[in-house]
Amino acid sequence: MSGNVKLNFLEALPDAFFEIDHPSRLLELFGGPTLVSLEGAAAEPLMISTLLHGNETTGFFALQRLLRHYRDGLPRSLLIFFGNVEAAAQGVRHLPGQPDFNRIWGGGEGAEARMAREVLTYARGRRVIANIDIHNTTGRNPYYACVNRTSEDFLRLANGFTEIVIYFTEPHEVNSNAFAKFCPSVTLECGLPGIPEGIEHLYRYLEHLLHTVGDKGRAADEGRIYHTVARLKVPYYCRFDFAFDSKSSRDFSFIRHFDHFNFQCVPRGTVLAYTRRDGPQLAVLDNRDRLVTEKYLGFEDGKVIARQDLIPSMFTTDGDVAREDSLGYLMEPYQGE
Ligand SMILES: [Zn+2]
Repeated sequence: MSGNVKLNFLEALPDAFFEIDHPSRLLELFGGPTLVSLEGAAAEPLMISTLLHGNETTGFFALQRLLRHYRDGLPRSLLIFFGNVEAAAQGVRHLPGQPDFNRIWGGGEGAEARMAREVLTYARGRRVIANIDIHNTTGRNPYYACVNRTSEDFLRLANGFTEIVIYFTEPHEVNSNAFAKFCPSVTLECGLPGIPEGIEHLYRYLEHLLHTVGDKGRAADEGRIYHTVARLKVPYYCRFDFAFDSKSSRDFSFIRHFDHFNFQCVPRGTVLAYTRRDGPQLAVLDNRDRLVTEKYLGFEDGKVIARQDLIPSMFTTDGDVAREDSLGYLMEPYQGE
């Protein structure tokens, strides 16, 4: 799969872009990853990436609507990167053999990393005013934003989208972190893919941002900033479900609706899962990949128990994502370094 990833460059969108009913059809239009440069009244472009994960469709739908609305003239220039359109054609995060397109922005010599560098170099040369990378989550989450810096200009980008901001430094190979080196940058998490409310919410945010990006002023004060402190890993070979069944034959049977606890406080003492005695162990890793399981989780009588109040986020009930990435992250309120 690697080796022949070519970045397409367009200065206008084909008419068919406005007709297609799903991003799975972008591959027919674009043939591969594509950077679209559109001129608008304000010259410094707003950079937007979408479909770095092929099955996260909300960004496409909101952008299609936005570009339709401004077909006769944009208030500001836009640079839009449509990332993994090959995976989008298959409705998957990435194809087998492809890297995760949101882990290719930290350098490297792979074909996809070179493509990412090409996008970055071009965007930097165009003096982009801000960068937005649009995603969905596989589990149920509120709308939230992720930043790699906590200065006002970064936090302000979340205004109007969400009051929940996550500050994180790892993984560092993500799109938002690469752009953070030369412009305010944010990752937007728009809930489950393709939900009409999420598309509407994102559309309104982007429409507003086109007119206001670059304005000075304070970030909203009422926002909550969280810091990712650890992540939960399940061994790749283990079997698990979300039935919360104490008699389960699986290695772990997690609480039902696990993802509904995202950004809630799970009190100390809560039973998170039933587990097979002598079965594989859950691992909690901190930001430096150190094993810190005992700080957060206890294992007693076939149960996994929270050893302190936990604020989970990005917890997924998608087994493949859980195995490849992580089951979810643990957060703490961020007080500054
Ligand atoms: Zn994503």
